[in-house]
Amino acid sequence: MAANNVNIEEIVRQVLASMSGQAPASAPAAAGPIPKTSRVAVLSQLEKFEIKEYPIPEVGDDDILVKVEGCGICGTDAHEFRKDPFNLIPVALGHEGTGEIVKMGKNVKKDSAGKDLHIGDKVVTCMIFKDNPDITMFDLNKQNVGGADVYGLLPDDDIHLNGWFSDYIFIRKGSTVFNVSDLDLTSRILIEPCAVLVHAVERAKTTGILRFNSRVVVQGCGPIGLICIAVLRTMGIETIVAVDGNNKRLEMAKKMGASASVNFADHKGIEALTAAVEQCFGGHPADFGFQCTGSPAGHSNIYKFIRNGGGLCELGFFINAGDATINPHFDICSKELTMVGSWVYTLRDYATTFDFLKRAKGIGLPIDELVTHRFPLEQINEAMGVNLRQEGYKIAIVAG
Ligand SMILES: [Zn+2]
Repeated sequence: MAANNVNIEEIVRQVLASMSGQAPASAPAAAGPIPKTSRVAVLSQLEKFEIKEYPIPEVGDDDILVKVEGCGICGTDAHEFRKDPFNLIPVALGHEGTGEIVKMGKNVKKDSAGKDLHIGDKVVTCMIFKDNPDITMFDLNKQNVGGADVYGLLPDDDIHLNGWFSDYIFIRKGSTVFNVSDLDLTSRILIEPCAVLVHAVERAKTTGILRFNSRVVVQGCGPIGLICIAVLRTMGIETIVAVDGNNKRLEMAKKMGASASVNFADHKGIEALTAAVEQCFGGHPADFGFQCTGSPAGHSNIYKFIRNGGGLCELGFFINAGDATINPHFDICSKELTMVGSWVYTLRDYATTFDFLKRAKGIGLPIDELVTHRFPLEQINEAMGVNLRQEGYKIAIVAG
């Protein structure tokens, strides 16, 4: 009997050891222990990131510490990398990021949409409205991003953990945080660029011209144009013609839901190009156009593809690429064209985007293929090179 007691004690010890090895629910095993410092990729001069190590600050009652899992490189990051147009250097970049909550203050209970927040939840941040924090609760569509700050484009401060190109990010009180635990990592990395297109399509819908049975032309098949096609497809639009100068991108456009494509390099002159686009619509011009290139010639051309009484959404010019020539008589007045511009997104669009990503996957659009390259943090300069040479669609920095 004594021997049996010893065995039972041993078994209990083993069971307890194995249980503690699995870590209790309050400290997820995936995150591991929180280190004292975090690496941060700091753009310390033009065209050069340096990996710096900063202490992780004490998490206050309203703060959230997030272990970064991944962050996409945005066109905005590329502009900042090359020219510092926002005058932010030295800056911790990366705003298309996502990660796991590893620590949070006792006052943090809900995300910006009212969903519960717990340690272990996967989150993204959106804009921080200093002037009007209530924008998360009231009429969001009345304001765009003016007056807002974004993690990854904040001036450096004593905390330093301000961007998603890092091991940890320190989210402060008043920030916009969403619990997106029900989305996989690739989808979460794509939320920010997808929100730009959800917003553009919302802007387009305000014209009353874009409907489920519209003929739509999408010009430009970089990441923005490709996601535009996917968003249109998820709202039931079947007839989408993609226009670009690159056959590989046009193939991808078809995978994202385009019904036909036109390579502008195959058609000499605007008349021939217009005829090619109309041919894809069975001999009709488009009801609506989305201009997704940053090319002035692209802007000039798209009017020709659109019917009288049609609509246009211009969203390609994130930077000033110069003036475009149009003919106000033919392109606007006599055509009775309705045009909207679209710029970034609102918080409402952000929340809508979570469901767009689920719908897109649900109808079999290969959204994941938009993330073509993944680099560890220490290779961020190489990753930026791939991005600048446009060798892929979305380039992401991912945690090892
Ligand atoms: Zn972005």
